[in-house]
Amino acid sequence: MKISAKKSLGQNFLIDANICRKIVSSLDICLEDNVLEIGPGKGALTGIIYHSGCNFYCLEKDNILSREIKYNYPQASVINVDALNFDWPRLNHLPQLKIVGNLPYNVASRLIWDIVAQVSVQKSCTFMVQKEVGQRIAASPGSKTYGALSVWVQSHVRPELLFTVSPCVFRPKPKVDSAVLGFYPVPLGKKNFSGSSLNQTLRLMFQNRRKQVGNILKNYWNDGINSFFERKSLDLRIRPENLSPDDFQELSSVLFPWKN
Ligand code: SAM
Repeated sequence: MKISAKKSLGQNFLIDANICRKIVSSLDICLEDNVLEIGPGKGALTGIIYHSGCNFYCLEKDNILSREIKYNYPQASVINVDALNFDWPRLNHLPQLKIVGNLPYNVASRLIWDIVAQVSVQKSCTFMVQKEVGQRIAASPGSKTYGALSVWVQSHVRPELLFTVSPCVFRPKPKVDSAVLGFYPVPLGKKNFSGSSLNQTLRLMFQNRRKQVGNILKNYWNDGINSFFERKSLDLRIRPENLSPDDFQELSSVLFPWKN
């Protein structure tokens, strides 16, 4: 049966076998791995993962595609769900978990925001996203693309931009280039911050990204913030994009301590 692509579900299907193999091989799958794919679609990546012999799970919102995947890959655990509503912490009991997806571009940032914070990445993840989103995720402090998404993701995992992909390898062709990112665990003990404090800090700071940090924090000033700036020898005239993920984590604990 010919199924036409649904724009509302970001359905740009991969049609290049080499790119599919390259994406899956970045996960370095072994038999004991539990691999979850988000949005298997027509199965471009699914077949390669499934036949590697690992334990395979997937989340697909499209009812028809979800049924097809179940039919074509009978040993797979296929969950017909909107991944935005998925209870991510329930994956945390699975050992050797790896997550992969050519993500629907309209919800990719939101999904990544939730996944990095709610799933303890013990192994690795590989996600394909719009190139511009990939650049934002991997951006360094001080760059134009560095923002809340960069700080949030880099506080939870170590992202790496693996390679970029042209629109020609999809059907239908998207209007933009794509990027494939690898996410790797950060060293144990590095995640010493409250997610809700950091979230609130990022909102406050990057909603005012053109302002100097001293001005943004004027109404929140306390001794903890004062000693943070003194200890780090940071000038109050810098802008939010000049603070590193570590700076944001530390600042959040003195700015919104009651959220810890
Ligand atoms: N993996 C396939 C490929 O590479 O050809 C399809 C990728 S396509 C860009 C995105 C897939 O995610 C589609 O199959 C779409 O139906 C599914 N999808 C879109 N929104 C979703 C959501 N909120 N939750 C789960 N799946 C979703």
